Amino acid sequence: MAQKKIYWARSASDLANTFFPLGNSQVNTIQFTLEVENDNKLPFLDVLVTKSDKVWHTSVYKKPMATGQYLHYNSYHPDHVKLGLAIGLIKRARKICSDEKTFKEELGRIETNLKDSGYPQYVLKKAMDKAMNVRSDIQVEAEPAVDTVCIPYIRNLSEKIRRINKKHNIRTVFKSTRTIRSQLTKVKPNNLDQQNKNVVYKVPCSCDRNYIGQTSRPVKTRIEEHMKKVKNKESYGSKISEHVLETGHNIKWTDSCVLYKEQNWKKRNFAESLFMAHEKQPLSRPSKEINPVYMEVVEKELQELNIKGNNRTIDLTHKKVIKPGDNAVHIRRSDRIRDRQK
Ligand SMILES: [Zn+2]
Repeated sequence: MAQKKIYWARSASDLANTFFPLGNSQVNTIQFTLEVENDNKLPFLDVLVTKSDKVWHTSVYKKPMATGQYLHYNSYHPDHVKLGLAIGLIKRARKICSDEKTFKEELGRIETNLKDSGYPQYVLKKAMDKAMNVRSDIQVEAEPAVDTVCIPYIRNLSEKIRRINKKHNIRTVFKSTRTIRSQLTKVKPNNLDQQNKNVVYKVPCSCDRNYIGQTSRPVKTRIEEHMKKVKNKESYGSKISEHVLETGHNIKWTDSCVLYKEQNWKKRNFAESLFMAHEKQPLSRPSKEINPVYMEVVEKELQELNIKGNNRTIDLTHKKVIKPGDNAVHIRRSDRIRDRQK
């Protein structure tokens, strides 16, 4: 799609009076701010522009709360990473500072900060030599590496392996071993049971009627609770158990499946009611009454989403639930929109 470019020339006060009230009223979490020139100085990204006698000077801009603390030299990182950090800081100063005086000042700050972070003088000198070497700015076409290997980082040993590999034109990358962070935080659920949380699920009976339920917990845990109730002949707390006690039917546990995944409780509850309304005689009663007027649309939607006969089965016999993505019915907004456009 061709995009039309709009050039909108406005003064700062014009922006404050027209653009900001309009822009900031759209989405609460997206708010525009305006940086105003102060004492002839205006920061833009990491550049501080200073105006004097029709000339603009540029220097490195740091936020007022910047502490000047960098990765400590004793930190468990390969040496080339720490050298690279020092080189980067010096190169940035050289590129941004518009005159020699400002550059020298910035260089002094970098040196103080890095010394405070434990960088020895010889490393600073090496960084300075590399950063100021004009040749290093020229992109030399390096021979592409024949292969890349990824090894755990073990100080001194990994560097040696890297040097040997380099001789054979093999690129070496390090991966960190155990860190405090990796021990204390789990960003992603690594357990498949965890991934089968927040779902609407179906448990069929031998009489062809289905139980539809929803849970925020791992679905396997919830189904096992139903199984326990049936086994102990308890009718309370499980519509499945109630049905078995009344009729003596057999529940087809292994045909249980996940119908829908939704984090939001309200939406999940509504989806549960829709799936129940779709059933002729569900074993459970919907928490929301769905007006029959909507059912035509719902049926069409369910068909379009290919839910019928394409459900994710729940493996109750093994520890693991079937791999996510295998016939997974995870309906995202984009899928719905795409399906509608078909
Ligand atoms: Zn039955």
